Amino acid sequence: MKKINGNYQKLPGAYLFSEIAQRVKAFKVDCPEADIISLGIGDVTQPLAPAVVEALHKAADEMAASATFRGYGPERGYDFLREAIVENDFRARGIEIESDEVFVSDGAKSDIGNFQELLSGDVRIAVTDPVYPVYIDANTMAGREIVTLPCKPENAFVPELPAEQVDVVYLCYPNNPTGTTLTREQLKVWVDYALSHDVLIFYDAAYEAYIQSGDVPHSIYEIEGSKECAVEFHSYSKTAGFTGIRCGYTVVPKALRAPLNSMWNRRQSTKFNGTSYLSQCAAGAIYTPEGKKQIKATIAYYMENARLMRETLTGMGFTVYGGVDAPYLWVQTPCGMTSWELFDRILRAAHVVCTPGAGFGDAGEGYVRLTAFGNREKTEEALRRIAKSVK
Ligand SMILES: *Cc1c(COP(=O)(O)O)cnc(C)c1O
Repeated sequence: MKKINGNYQKLPGAYLFSEIAQRVKAFKVDCPEADIISLGIGDVTQPLAPAVVEALHKAADEMAASATFRGYGPERGYDFLREAIVENDFRARGIEIESDEVFVSDGAKSDIGNFQELLSGDVRIAVTDPVYPVYIDANTMAGREIVTLPCKPENAFVPELPAEQVDVVYLCYPNNPTGTTLTREQLKVWVDYALSHDVLIFYDAAYEAYIQSGDVPHSIYEIEGSKECAVEFHSYSKTAGFTGIRCGYTVVPKALRAPLNSMWNRRQSTKFNGTSYLSQCAAGAIYTPEGKKQIKATIAYYMENARLMRETLTGMGFTVYGGVDAPYLWVQTPCGMTSWELFDRILRAAHVVCTPGAGFGDAGEGYVRLTAFGNREKTEEALRRIAKSVK
C-alpha cells in the first residue's frame, strides 16, 4: 500500500506494557491464587482533591442552566485558567510569562506528540536514553532521525551535550523513568548550549510538582535566556491526579527565535477545539488555597511511598536512583541480571510487578523502574515480600 505512512513500520511495537501483561498473565496461570501487587503502574491511584470535585460539580450545574451553559471555549483555554497558571506556576517563582504564551490542552502527551508538526521534516532530534517513548515515536512517525544521549551512573544520569549537530533536544526533568533531576546549574549548561548552537529544547515538566530539593528548577524558564530556545510542557495528570480528567498546558514564548507561538496558535485553532470546560474548572481549583493544600498532601503521600521504597531497597543492598524529587525509582539489577530477568524474579518470588528498564531504551538495560503511585499498605507489603525473596 503506497498510500500509508511507511514510517509507522519503523516504530518499535508497543511491546513493553503488552509484554509485561503477557508475563503476568502466564504467571497467573501457574499460580492462580497469587495476590499480585503492581509497582509498575505509571498511573496515579489516589482520588481527586475535594476542591477539584467541588469545581466539577459546580461546572456541571452551570452546564445545566441556559444562563450559564458554555459551548465551544477559546482554543487557547479560558482566561481564568491561563491567568491562574501565569500567576501561580510562574510569577510566584519570579518568572514572567504572558497569558498568550500559555496554551491549555487535554494533557501533555498530545501536545508533546503534536508539537513536532511545527518542525521541518529533516531536523535532527536528540533524546535521552532511557526515555519516555512518546518523543521518539512521534518523530519516527514523521520520518525524522533520532540521536540518543545515554544517561547512566557514570554521568550521574546527566546527559552529555550531543557530539553532532542536532536541532531539537527533548529533556524531561524530574525524569521518567529514572526519577533523576537536573540542578539549575546543570540545566543552564543545556540552555547555553541551545542558545549557542541554535537548538530548540522541548522541556517536559510533567513531574515538576514532585520536586523537594531547592536547587532543582521547577521550570526551564528559571534559567536565563531559555525563553529564546525552550518550549515547556505541563500536565495536571501527576500533579493532581488528572490522568482521567485530562488537562495540561504548553508554554510557547513569543521570544523564541522561531515564530512557534503564532504557529502553534494556528495549528491548535485548526486541529483542536479546546479542553472541556469541566476539566478547566477542575484545573482552576488546584490553584485555590484549599486546592493547593490538598494536592500537596497527595504528593506528600506518594513521596512518602518513594522514601520508604528507597530506604528499604537500599537497606536490602539494591543500588537505587531517583525517588527523591520524583515518584520513580530506578533500581539497578543485582549480579548482572538483565532487567527482564529481575522482572521475572520479582514477579515469581514476590508476586510484585515492576517495569523492565530495557523497555525505555538500550541504556535502561540493567535497571527496573518502580513507581510510588501505589497505596501505602500495598507498597509496604510489596517491600516485605521483596525483602523475603532476596534473603
Ligand atoms: C505522565 C507523563 C506525561 C503526562 O501526560 P498527560 O497526557 O498529561 O497525562 C507527560 N510526560 C511524561 C514524561 C509523563 O510520564
